[in-house]
This record gives sequence, structure tokens and C-alpha cells, in this order.
Amino acid sequence: MQVNETIIRDVVAQVLAEVGPAPMVAPSSTGRSHGVFTDVDEAVAAAREAFQQLCERPREDREKIIAHVRRISIDQSVELGTMEMNETKIGRLEHKIDKLKTLGEKTPGIEFMRSEVFSGDHGLAVIEHAPFGVIGAITPVTHSLPTITGNAVSMIAAGNAVVVNPHPSGKLVAAEGVRRFNEAIYNDIGIDNLISLLAEPTLETAQGIFSHRDVALICVTGGPAVGRAALRSGKRAVVAGPGNPPVVVDETADLDRAARCIIQGGAYDNNLLCIAEKEVFVVASVFDQMMDAMQRAGAVQLNDQQIQQLTSQAIVQVGEGDDRHDAAGKELLGQDASRLAEAAGVNVPNETQLLFGETPHTHPFVSVEQMMPFIPFVRCRDVDQAIEWAREYEHGFRHTSIIHSNNVQNMTRMGRALDTTIFVKNGPCMAGLGLGGEGYLSFSIAGPTGEGVTTPLTFTRERRCSLIDDLCILGR
Ligand code: NAD
Repeated sequence: MQVNETIIRDVVAQVLAEVGPAPMVAPSSTGRSHGVFTDVDEAVAAAREAFQQLCERPREDREKIIAHVRRISIDQSVELGTMEMNETKIGRLEHKIDKLKTLGEKTPGIEFMRSEVFSGDHGLAVIEHAPFGVIGAITPVTHSLPTITGNAVSMIAAGNAVVVNPHPSGKLVAAEGVRRFNEAIYNDIGIDNLISLLAEPTLETAQGIFSHRDVALICVTGGPAVGRAALRSGKRAVVAGPGNPPVVVDETADLDRAARCIIQGGAYDNNLLCIAEKEVFVVASVFDQMMDAMQRAGAVQLNDQQIQQLTSQAIVQVGEGDDRHDAAGKELLGQDASRLAEAAGVNVPNETQLLFGETPHTHPFVSVEQMMPFIPFVRCRDVDQAIEWAREYEHGFRHTSIIHSNNVQNMTRMGRALDTTIFVKNGPCMAGLGLGGEGYLSFSIAGPTGEGVTTPLTFTRERRCSLIDDLCILGR
């Protein structure tokens, strides 16, 4: 997610000047719906047929299919990213574009497929990774088409087809992307509907997918409710659930580097990433220096009264009875820092990426997954208290945590205490997905069900093929 924002802004301005806002769901030139359905049974049947056709094809065809999904995500990222921004109205345009490009380029594909072998006195056993068939996928509003791109590449690399129930607030760009993917695949190799989608997604269509007998596996990416629903479905579910990633900064950290990293990760797409820095626990001996470092790096500090004013508009109460709790309000979710500042009663330059300020650890901005570019900083007695509060406010999601430190013992203690799927040390959150760090990328990070950063192998079943007594050629 290294993005040259000036170039992208220029390109976007040029595209918008030439073509105006991107059209929603353009008609197909072939007269086919190319994966876009209004009925669950039809969508699943079409995906099932596509899966059966794919089973008859060589792996080379999977490569061709994935190449089309990647190419469209990358080459059409400006147009599709603009569409996603216009429709969802959350996040930042340059990052909507960047996410499509990044998912297109870096999602694990066929190169992640492998087989294992056991050879010995009794012959040979080969373990191969086979497709499940049709996978039901639920995608979030925070990255509607990027999640579909990533899921499609990894699921098809493993030989599956997929039926998507997108978030209703990102359904148009999801349908348009899916239509473009299928049209290109169909024109090239003659298989249609490998990626099918419900054009009018509802909780009922999601349930219809969950309970459909021809859906073999479920993969949901979203908050707590959809994770619970998927696990109640009676099918195997890969659950990429919510996070509230804490950051610890100890007295050995490079504070300027920590500040740059927190801004890079926390401000990206206005804090919509599930891995994004959401609250920072700083040891008292360097707290004031850390606040200065944040300002030097370009973030704008709010005072107590401004934070209070922002909170009254940004955090709402939801749920009933015992379930009543704080949540991020829709009005400011994913909005620019300048809009949040306005709500706080301050004027900041439009290009401001991130707001921050000191709060107690009990503040709602600490406990809520805010998904907006204001980050609370909490003063902690020492690193033990910082790690303990980080553990408490991660809420046991076991999603992502981050430390800035040069003390390996503190790193080790935090890693053990938080037990998260992704643990980043001395980098922005995205470095944990291989963007500026090592490793690979996915936007479906399955913490609750344990698959971790998903790959094509996540969407496979193991099959074993044994030959008894022969073909171990090493001699006795
Ligand atoms: P959301 O939970 O509101 O919606 C996610 C999807 O689930 C949507 O398609 C929605 O329509 C559907 N849904 C919600 N409740 C459902 C139910 N009871 N039954 C069936 N479907 C249901 O989340 P969102 O606002 O779209 O996305 C943000 C959330 O997703 C955050 O909590 C974020 O942390 C999480 N997220 C996680 C990952 C990950 O990889 N772990 C990636 C992206 C986003």
C-alpha cells in the first residue's frame, strides 16, 4: 500500500473530468447477467455448474481466470475505486483505488497450492488439496469489491466457485466488478458465473446461502453478528471477524518512527482496515515526547474539550437491555479527519490525515472499533500496564496487535499476552500483511476460526491417495 497520492489524485481528477462519476452496473455486451442474480437458488445453481465445468479443465485455465480478475482489479482500479467511494461514501478515494490494485497484485494464487508426500517401506501416500465446490462468501462495506477480488483469486486458485452476498451499502460496485470479471472469463475460456453474486443482498439471502445444500463452505468477513450467524449455520465456516488493534509504545521505542507508522496505518482509508491501529498505550516516561512526535509527523492533537465534543457525535449507544453498548456512529464512520475536526469544533487543513489526543483507558474511543481517523492515546504507568490494557481492549478478538519497542522481552511478553493472529513490531499495521513487511496478503483474516491470513489452501479439503508397497524407489 505504498501509494503515490499525488499521481493518483491527478489521475482521478482527470478521469472524473472526462467521464464524470463512474456509472453503476453497466449493461453486459453479451446480454448475459455474468454472475449477477436476484435469487439464491439461481445464483448457487449457476456457480455449481461453473464449478463442475472448472473441474474438467486443466490448471492452466485457473491461471487464466485469475489473471483476468487481477488485471481488471489493477487496470480498472481508478474507475472501480471511484465507484466504490461514490457508493459507500466512507474512506478515502486514493485508498479505495490502492486497495483494488494491491489485492489484484498480491492476493495469493495458484503458486500457494501444494501437495505433501509420505514415502517409506509401505509405498507412497500423496496428500492433495481439493476444492470444496461452491463457497458462500459474505463481504463487508469497508472493502466491498477488494474483498471479492481477494476471495475470488484464492478460492478459484483452489478450484472452487463462489456465491457472494455483499454488504447492501456496497452492492452496486460489487455487482459491477463481478460482472466484469465473469464477462472476461467467459469470453476467454467459456465458463460463466464462477463468481456469482446476489444483486439485492439481505439477511434472508445470506441465510439462504448459509443453508443451501449445494454450498459446501462459508467464508464471512465482517463484524461479530455475521460471524455468529455463520457459526450457527451448521456448515464449516471460515470467519474473518472484527478487531480493535491496540498499539503499545515503550520507553525503548524510536518515537518518530512509531508516530509515522501509527499515522500510516491508522489513517489509511480513514481507519477502515480491520488491522488498523485503533488505540495507543504509551508508557508515562515517554508519553509527552510521543505526543510531540505525532505532531511532528503531521497528526493534529485535540484537547479534552474537543475530544468530548467529537465523542458526543461519533459514539452512539446500540442494543437493548444487557446488550446495550457503545458503537461507532454511522455519521462520522470512515469520514476524513477534517470532517471529524469540524465535529470537534476545530478547523484543520483538508489534507490532515489523522487526529489524536489523550484519553483515559476507560474512554469509548479506546473500547470501540471506531473506524474513523481519531486515535486515543492512553498514558500508562509502565509497560506491564500498557500490555495489560492492550489485552483488555483487544477484547479477545485475537485479531491484530502492534508494539513499538527495541526490547525483545517486552515484545515477547506482549506477543504471549495478546495471542493475536497478526503481531507487528516496529511497523504500521499493513506490514503484517506483507506490505512493507514479509509475508503475504489477504483481506479475510480468519482469527475466530483459526485459519489466519487466508490463502488458497484455506479453501481446500485434504485428499489422500495411497499406493501400497510400491513406488518408494529409494531401495531398502
Ligand atoms: P458488518 O458486520 O456490518 O457486515 C459484514 C457483512 O455481514 C455484510 O455483508 C452484512 O450485510 C453481513 N451481515 C451482518 N450481519 C449479518 C447476519 N446476522 N447474518 C448474515 N449476514 C450478516 O461489517 P462491516 O461494517 O461491513 O465491516 C466492518 C467490520 O468487518 C469490522 O468489524 C471489521 O473489523 C471487520 N472486518 C474484518 C476483516 C478480517 O479480515 N478479519 C476484514 C474486513 C473487515
